[in-house]
This record gives sequence, structure tokens and C-alpha cells, in this order.
Amino acid sequence: MRAEIIGVGTELLLGQIANTNAQWISSRLATLGHSVYHHTVVGDNLKRVTDSFALAESRADLVIVTGGLGPTEDDLTLDAAQLVFDQELVEHEDSMEKIKSYYQRNQKFMSENNRKQARVFENASVFQNLEGMAPGQLVKHEDTLWVFLPGVPREMKYIMDEYIIPYLQNNYHIESQIVSEMMRFIGIGESDLETKLQSLIKSQTNPTIAPLASEGEVGLRLTATGESTEQAKEKILSLKTEILTHVGKYYYGSDAITIEEKVRDLLKEKSLKIGSAESFTGGRFLERLIALPGASSVCQGGYTVYTPEMKERILQVPKFLIKKYGTISHECAEMMALNAQANLDVDVVVSFTGVAGPDASEGHEPGTVFIGLQIGERKPEVHKFHFDGGREQVRVRAVKKAYEMIFH
Ligand code: ATP
Ligand code: MG
Repeated sequence: MRAEIIGVGTELLLGQIANTNAQWISSRLATLGHSVYHHTVVGDNLKRVTDSFALAESRADLVIVTGGLGPTEDDLTLDAAQLVFDQELVEHEDSMEKIKSYYQRNQKFMSENNRKQARVFENASVFQNLEGMAPGQLVKHEDTLWVFLPGVPREMKYIMDEYIIPYLQNNYHIESQIVSEMMRFIGIGESDLETKLQSLIKSQTNPTIAPLASEGEVGLRLTATGESTEQAKEKILSLKTEILTHVGKYYYGSDAITIEEKVRDLLKEKSLKIGSAESFTGGRFLERLIALPGASSVCQGGYTVYTPEMKERILQVPKFLIKKYGTISHECAEMMALNAQANLDVDVVVSFTGVAGPDASEGHEPGTVFIGLQIGERKPEVHKFHFDGGREQVRVRAVKKAYEMIFH
């Protein structure tokens, strides 16, 4: 079913409260396999609520409305529905009894307004509210199923879980098993990935594909529904296979895996030892690796050599080299990697030298970074990068880039 969720309440528009009801209902409907196409929020204004309802009726099979069922003037959800349905509301006896007895019990005066909360549509299924006054109700109008719920999240959730969800499960057969997988890519930008998969992304409805960019990498969330979990998983698998034929070389794993874990696993598989020579990253590269269980089988250790003197004294970067090229240079990154490899007796070394900012250094703009990668006997590979962002971001990105270089 195409579903729409409408939140009624000016406080939502004013930003005084967040529309958590819509979020919660959406996630419930998703697990049932219904597609939520719209979240609407509308203030406490009869004309605007009525317009929203009319629009929802024209485009949705299921509309769930929360809020505006209270006793006060500005609670006008049902008044608006009345106009759209062209149907009178009637007083619901049980609800009226409940309201009366509440006022008697609490020895409070019941005003005429409170009667408002017992109003229901004649053909509605009515669901008693556990705590509040206004009941929830479910009404069929034309081809649309309408559900009206109180705005208070506890009351809304109670009626949803107790009555509405079971009702939907029993009456609307749907592919209700949902499976999703997050594919993770590195070394390719979001727009590049999207372009390469353009036709797939466009034509795909089940599973759906949703790209998601995060710091230095891109994810693709595949979500499939099926009559059984196995069927949904099969759909994911065949789409995944197709995706990998296009962009497989950037894919490093799915779901909870991180690039650091992937690199650890690769090194382990090949029985390689790794170390680092770090300047402005301050040991962060190594720290990310050593944080992982199993690091001891692949990680030897490393150097943090921040000043030129340390690079010279600890890593034997020759004075003349520093004088000639500076420490922020291809040559320095190369020498750091070479010497660290010999000292640490490892197969793989990553070296970092650069300017994290905020100020320039040795005439280089902040964000200028050289990363060296030395593998076995091969000639060290050094790349120059320019990372945007502040000091922290430059350091994070450089470390991520190094993991990417090792992975590729
Ligand atoms: P009552 O019958 O208790 O008056 P109501 O149906 O009239 O409930 P509202 O008055 O619109 O509901 O909202 C009651 C309270 O519920 C709000 O003050 C707010 O705290 C919360 N609420 C309303 N709508 C939402 C929403 N969409 N998401 C989260 N909280 C909400
Ligand atoms: Mg209210």
C-alpha cells in the first residue's frame, strides 16, 4: 500500500517538537512492507488540514494521521476529516462513558468541549486509548484507509501496536519480509558511483538502491522485500552480483565491516606485517589498526616523528634532503617509508607528511599531504593529495586515504 503519514500540530511547524511519530510509524510500516511515500506536517488550521487530507486521499491507499484529537478549539483533525468525507461524526458511547467517569473519578468539572473527544465516524472501527481520552479510529473512505491517532507518542504507539498493525497484517497481504544490505565502496566518489550505476538505480524498485556518502567512502543500501527472508535475500544477492560487475573493484565489504578491518584481514591473509611513519597524523593510522582485535598478528609498530629533527634523528631522513626538498615533499615521504621499513622489519609501511593546518607550512597550503606506501621490495609509491576541511578533517581523511591505498 502507498502510505502517507500526516502530523497535525502547529508546534511541529514551529520546531518546538520533532515529528517522531512519523519516524516511528514509518519504520513500523517498512517492516510490514508498505511503502511510505509522504510525510506531511500541517498546522492547526481547518482550511490547511482539510487541503492536506484531500491531497492525501488523492494519492495514498493508507493515511495515518496523528494529533489534533484533543478537546480544545485548535484540535480540529476530525472536523477537517468530516469535510473531506462529507460525513457526520457521531458520539461514541463507550468513549463518552470513559470520559464521564474520568471526570467523576477525579471530581473535575466536565465541559462541553470534552464531548468532542468521543466523536467518531459512523462506520469507523474504534480503538480505546489506554491512557488518554480520544480513541483511535480506522475509517474506509472511497479507496483509502484512514487511521486517526492521538498525538501523544505513548498513546499513538499503543493503538498502533495493539490494533492497527495486526489489522494491516490480517487484511492486507503483502510481501512482508524485508532484508537489507549496506555495500561499502572506497576510492570512488558518490556521483561517479551513481553515474556508473545510473540505469540500475533508475530501473530498480525491489530491491531499492540508496547511495549514501560518508567520510571518504560511499555506501549503497540495498533493500528488498519478499514473501520469505530467503526470497528477499536472493533478490539482494542477484542485484549485488550485477552491481559488482560494474564497480566491483571499489567494493570492500558489506554491513558492519570497516576499511581498517578489511585491511587487517587482507594483511593477515597474505601474512604481511605492517608499520607506519607518521608526522601530522600523530600515530592515528596505527591507532585505528591497533584498536582492532587481531591487530597483533599484522601490526608491528611505528614512529610518530613530528618535527624535522625527529624525522632526521629517528628515521634517518638526511639533512640535505630536508634542506633541498623540505619535509613536506615526495622525497621525504619516500625516505620515511624506506627507512621505517628497514628499522621495523616489516613488509608494508605507510608514511605521512603534510600540513594539517590551519596555517601554511614550508610554503604549502593547509591540506597538502604526501602519503608513501612501501610494499616489500617494490619502489615506494608516493601520492600527493589536497584535502579540504580543517585540521581534524585533513588528518582523518589522510588516514582513510592510506587505508584505501593499501586496499587497492
Ligand atoms: P490529546 O487528546 O492528548 O490532546 P491530541 O491528539 O490532541 O492529544 P496533540 O494535542 O496534537 O494531540 O499533541 C499532544 C502532544 O503529543 C503534543 O504536545 C506533543 O508533545 C505530542 N505530539 C503531537 N504530535 C506529535 C508528533 N507528530 N511527534 C511527536 N510528538 C507529538
Ligand atoms: Mg491536543
